[in-house]
Amino acid sequence: MAAKASRLAHHTAIVTGASSGIGLAIAEAMAAAGCAVAVNYHSHAEPAQELVDRIVEQGGRAIAIQADVSKEADVVRLFDEAARAFGRIDVLVSNSGIQKDAAIADLSLDDWNTVIDINLTGQFLCAREAVRRFRAQPTSGRPARSAGVIITMSSVHETIPWAGHINYASAKGGVHMFTRTLAQEVASDGIRVNAIAPGAIKTPINRDAWESNEELTKLLRLIPYGRIGEPGDVAKAAVWLASDEADYVTGTTLYIDGGMSLYPEFRDNG
Ligand code: NAD
Repeated sequence: MAAKASRLAHHTAIVTGASSGIGLAIAEAMAAAGCAVAVNYHSHAEPAQELVDRIVEQGGRAIAIQADVSKEADVVRLFDEAARAFGRIDVLVSNSGIQKDAAIADLSLDDWNTVIDINLTGQFLCAREAVRRFRAQPTSGRPARSAGVIITMSSVHETIPWAGHINYASAKGGVHMFTRTLAQEVASDGIRVNAIAPGAIKTPINRDAWESNEELTKLLRLIPYGRIGEPGDVAKAAVWLASDEADYVTGTTLYIDGGMSLYPEFRDNG
């Protein structure tokens, strides 16, 4: 327990979209590993503040910061407020994302743009700010071997096409190349950049897919490991990627999907 608790000791992180689902679990797990956490939320202040209170009660450090990751000024303010509170920023977990699903013939330009703005442009705005801050921070007294860590939240749909979700799949496909290109560009600065690609994780974003037994049974056919994922499954991986244990890992996507990306249709000899 002691070794685990110190994994991110003296680190500070910003986790976007941390008032629910995967982001909330990541913020909580990072705090449990010793990290000071800026809990970003977009519109739900209450669960963000409850999480902060829980972390502080357990002896950790956390603050809640409202910001829309698709707005440049909001993102700069998010980093300013986190840096003011904690002195430095070592880790960005760029987790925010939404779905606005429709078949292409019915998809409005607004819903195309909103998903691209939040799921892809939001990655750009947050990562750009993180790189600027990581480069400007003093090189001595770093808590980690790296000069900073960026974790982007992708999806199995960075590679699996998804009819009826073309805005989402296009954004996540973009996150894939964004992550690899950024990793290549900033590796010589000592900055590590990796993506996490969850499969089906039980959160508000996909409630329709797990709420009824019928839908869940349908979903489980796509998951060779035979269960839906929990936010904690992703959070553990994020803690590892942020820590020095992953010091030689950059430019990769870690799939956390119970085998969903393994072409389950071919399980029975194709
Ligand atoms: P969620 O809906 O609980 O979380 C999404 C978070 O993003 C919410 O907290 C929301 O407030 C925040 N958000 C939305 N718009 C924002 C904005 N403009 N600025 C800042 N924050 C904003 O769902 P989740 O499943 O926890 O999703 C988290 C991430 O994981 C998303 O990027 C999603 O695409 C990805 N993902 C989820 C699954 C899954 O099965 N749940 C699978 C693959 C990828």
